[in-house]
Amino acid sequence: MEKVKKTDEEWRKELTPEQYHILREKGTERAWTGELLENKDFGKYTCAACHNELFISDTKFDSGCGWPSFFAPIKKDAVEYHIDKSFGMIRTEVTCGKCGGHLGHVFHDGPPPTGERFCMNSGALKFTPISDRS
Ligand code: FE
Repeated sequence: MEKVKKTDEEWRKELTPEQYHILREKGTERAWTGELLENKDFGKYTCAACHNELFISDTKFDSGCGWPSFFAPIKKDAVEYHIDKSFGMIRTEVTCGKCGGHLGHVFHDGPPPTGERFCMNSGALKFTPISDRS
């Protein structure tokens, strides 16, 4: 995948303070506050920073964790994985495959068919509805 590289200053200009904090400083929005948490419309979720397509609504599920959750990315190289040892835990961080922006973490307690739970910050995502399902 073609990568997008920008300076902190450029990202700061293009993103809202909340988006910048999540995507560029690995921040986490407060649980149950994300705009897309309850969204059940059909469509695509893209990276709020670079518009890379990340998830499709068919893979979104109610995880009860307070953040938008998906059981799979839209394609393999849409996201990248990193070991995150912060806060005394060992977790797998998920970043955007195109711009490297922090999206959230993936856990292995999700539903079939993958068993994975991509626990994503709503503030790192943008939703684009698709009106025609065919
Ligand atoms: Fe991105």
